[in-house]
Amino acid sequence: MKIHEYQAKEILRRYGVATPRGVPSFSVDEAVTAAESLGGRVWVVKAQIHAGGRGKGGGVKLAKSVDEVKTLAGQILGMQLKTHQTGPEGQKVRRLLIEEGADIKKELYVGMVVDRGTQKVALMASSEGGMDIEEVAAHTPEKIHKVFVDPDKGLTDAEADDVARKIGVPDASVAQARGILQALYRAFWDTDASLAEINPLILTGDGRVVALDAKMNFDDNALFRHPDIVAMRDLDEEDPAEIEASKFDLSYISLDGNIGCLVNGAGLAMATMDTIKLYGGSPANFLDVGGGATAEKVTEAFKIMLRNPGLQAILVNIFGGIMKCDVIATGIVTAAREVKLGVPLVVRMKGTNEDLGKQILKESGLPIISANNMAEAAEKVVAAAKGAK
Ligand code: GDP
Ligand code: MN
Repeated sequence: MKIHEYQAKEILRRYGVATPRGVPSFSVDEAVTAAESLGGRVWVVKAQIHAGGRGKGGGVKLAKSVDEVKTLAGQILGMQLKTHQTGPEGQKVRRLLIEEGADIKKELYVGMVVDRGTQKVALMASSEGGMDIEEVAAHTPEKIHKVFVDPDKGLTDAEADDVARKIGVPDASVAQARGILQALYRAFWDTDASLAEINPLILTGDGRVVALDAKMNFDDNALFRHPDIVAMRDLDEEDPAEIEASKFDLSYISLDGNIGCLVNGAGLAMATMDTIKLYGGSPANFLDVGGGATAEKVTEAFKIMLRNPGLQAILVNIFGGIMKCDVIATGIVTAAREVKLGVPLVVRMKGTNEDLGKQILKESGLPIISANNMAEAAEKVVAAAKGAK
């Protein structure tokens, strides 16, 4: 799960990370009131969307008067903000963060992720923070320093100080940087985050270390123990198909191909997508209906897939173990009747109640293309999708 910058800053502030003062705003009037209440002479108007690269996309602007805050808030609110992380259609801006302006002397980068290889939290830090961190990682990886944190000890003083010095924090500010790095680690750990990033972490003209931007993502599988974080969820930022699927406890992920996949079991779903790719096709989604799916659940899954306007064919790949083939077949038939099935449907079914499942599909009169194995199924669905173009 992702949250907005202002929410990540709220969390980090609780752990003692210094941030600029700021007020989230949902309208131009609120933005003006926010700027007035913050006072000062320079403000920053920041689009809040669940994607990075806002600065380059025109979603972060400096204002030198309250009038200018008003104008910029009017321009940014409601805009379709395009960044390298939003895709070509962009993301609509519905929230702003109005912050006091900061006196930036140097922009640094610090971030944490879970490193699967070492099974530890990896701290990454660089002196080259700001809007081109991806370029730094790609072209001068030696400028990114890493620490793999021992979970028993946490991020030690020595490790934090060493990293702070390596990224160019002056001696007088090392203690502050240490405090921020350790706070970031504790926040990451306590919230079951999967990513926590401060880019830029700035050095100000008067020697302070401040988090100018913040990003946190959380492990969905741990959200049950963080109701306060779940309360920060912003459904406007999420894929409607994925939200709908989560209501029915379906694992669904939208992809940009044209072949819908309905599969039981995550492993089989991955293998199915690979097989489609192998035969030159491109999956429109990952969908695992799970082992204990009911006909209703399968119906909903089918409806969610069919809402995708880019869909050109569907492959149902079922291995009947705990899941029975007739249950899937009933779901397919019900869904196809409720929603007009306008694309070719290829079905491969094996296992428990296979014959009954096939009979249900046959008697439905639906134009189903059946396949006996995965290779054949993939070949047929790729051909069907090409024919549908
Ligand atoms: P991102 O592009 O989505 O990562 O958004 P950021 O919050 O990182 O902002 C992008 C850039 O805007 C930063 O790297 C800064 O250079 C600039 N910026 C943000 N806040 C301020 C500020 O208070 N003063 C100044 N001068 N620049 C700022
Ligand atoms: Mn940033």
